[in-house]
Amino acid sequence: MNKKGIALTLVAVVCAGLTYGQNKDYTIKPVSFTKVKLDDSFWSPRIETNRTVTIPASFARCESTGRVKNFEMAAQKSGKFCTKFPFDDTDIYKTIEGASFSLAVHPDKKLDHYIDSLIDIVAKAQEPDGYLYTARTIDPAHPHSWSGPERWVKEHELSHELYNSGHLFEAASAHYQSTGKRNFLNIALKNADLLVATFGPNKLHVAPGHEIVEMGLVKLYRITGKNDYLNLAKFFIDERGKRTYDKTSKDSWKSGKYFQDNEPVTEQDEAEGHAVRAMYLYSGMADVAALTGDKQYIAAIDKIWENMVGKKIYVQGGIGAVGSGERFGENYQLPNATAYNETCAAVGDVYWNQRMFLLHGDSKYIDVLEKVLYNGLISGVGLNGNSFFYTNAMQITDGVKGAEATRSGWFECSCCPTNLARFLPSLSGYMYAQKDDDVFINLFIKGTADMMVKNKAVKINQQNNYPWDGLLAFTIDPATAQSFNLKIRIPGWAQNQAIPSDLYSYENANAQNVTISLNGKPLQYTMQNGYAVLNRTWHKGDKIAVSLPMDVKKVTANPSVKDDIGKVALQRGPIVYCAEWKDNDTKVSAIALQQNTTFKPVFDNNMFNGVTVLKGEVANQKLTLIPYCDWANRGKGEMQIWFPQTASVN
Ligand SMILES: [Zn+2]
Repeated sequence: MNKKGIALTLVAVVCAGLTYGQNKDYTIKPVSFTKVKLDDSFWSPRIETNRTVTIPASFARCESTGRVKNFEMAAQKSGKFCTKFPFDDTDIYKTIEGASFSLAVHPDKKLDHYIDSLIDIVAKAQEPDGYLYTARTIDPAHPHSWSGPERWVKEHELSHELYNSGHLFEAASAHYQSTGKRNFLNIALKNADLLVATFGPNKLHVAPGHEIVEMGLVKLYRITGKNDYLNLAKFFIDERGKRTYDKTSKDSWKSGKYFQDNEPVTEQDEAEGHAVRAMYLYSGMADVAALTGDKQYIAAIDKIWENMVGKKIYVQGGIGAVGSGERFGENYQLPNATAYNETCAAVGDVYWNQRMFLLHGDSKYIDVLEKVLYNGLISGVGLNGNSFFYTNAMQITDGVKGAEATRSGWFECSCCPTNLARFLPSLSGYMYAQKDDDVFINLFIKGTADMMVKNKAVKINQQNNYPWDGLLAFTIDPATAQSFNLKIRIPGWAQNQAIPSDLYSYENANAQNVTISLNGKPLQYTMQNGYAVLNRTWHKGDKIAVSLPMDVKKVTANPSVKDDIGKVALQRGPIVYCAEWKDNDTKVSAIALQQNTTFKPVFDNNMFNGVTVLKGEVANQKLTLIPYCDWANRGKGEMQIWFPQTASVN
């Protein structure tokens, strides 16, 4: 920074009496989903189904289950809280969030009005000082049993008061940014101001029981520039690790690990406790670190990320292996029969990895993000858009109970359907990012992006049939000739790396060739942090072709994962495969592969939206494997990802 810059920053800090300058944030910025239009056959139909089926169904369930009624009763201060959990308010917020994102790219007056009518109901339920929590407001003398007799007294454990606030802030930010209207934002700001007045040094101290208020406060800070919100987010994060627990206890509640509260966040170095809470905490830490320059936070989440990706993630990207406490297991504790893998944890994992990329500019975070996205996240919703998995199984065996074998329309605790509803419409916002004159292409989805590079318009068009085909075509259209660095992510899976750690490897690793050409001529390029860097003056119509090898890979797990010893999983491109009952004559749980069993990719236009299946043969038995993300769309039966492997038969 030049001297003038330092002087200006100091002035800003001193004049405003603020803890932090206002001009810091992630140096890499994502290109907004509103600037990226998709036209592919994998994501576009799913996002359209989310718009036409999932979001309306979700609103309908909020009405039919009494979630809306809770707000109406809170406005009247009469009646009895009529759903099960004190966080049921958030399903309305999350669905409004998804609907708002959807409105931003797909104007819909009727939906817009409907959202406004819900916001009116929410506004009336808010108490005069900003408190918004129907489980207490309906009947303050008899609040929900999880809520405690007074505000906030059970926040650390079960009340979810700040969790509700966090989702309110996330949703209101999305609504404001998508519609420009302040009706929802004003409710959120009033609630946030109550939190600022309530919590902080010399005020009430609490480590939020279920994180997300930290991320939400950061979003309000970005919109308003009000430092109180950022300071409070940091305060909440720094409150962790101050309670007394029995640190030797194996019970994650008693040890404090369940809440990520066993030690201060800067001393945490493992992904622990409730997986969704963990993802939201680490995402909040990344945000606050980006905004404040807190290097200790970054050092901590770097270590936690290494631990999760090195020891605590399933091959299909699922996290949170243990059902009791919906939590991370011990290192390498990744059982298949009882895998939990909450859909919300996958959504949170995408949020966190995107932030890690924005902090560090390394493609390994997108490698994980892509694995989660194409496998263990999108498996959470059926192709019909109105059936959902709360947990994402690794294995279904006839007669063995313990895994969720079919999707449901809704759940009593319905966090997962509404998390998908809110996430999917903004998916295209994860594809591109920029820093100065670097343009990052992270995901490969057919469609068009518009961005400004050094104040000049640049359009990038992607043509491909990803994830089924490794041929990627890009057309670069700057308004006028312009030089910048195009950084195209070369996925780890295309470079013999099953995951950016030694948790999974390819059994049949071989030298795979990635080739890049410019306007039909082979191009020399350098690699930097996992990106092919193409530095030149770009002209309208410049064409780049990237060829990624799409061999079928056998994946093996680190031998420390006991459940996977002697087994292989099948992967092609980013897609992890499974065998399902419907396609195989033999019992899926009886399938054993020989070392020399090979699989051939075959595109099946009639299956689902058109997918590539893998065809193989073992002992005269024909096998067909389908993409894991599409399992359980054709009824209930056996499913398996990891296959025992026996010696070759010649
Ligand atoms: Zn969930």
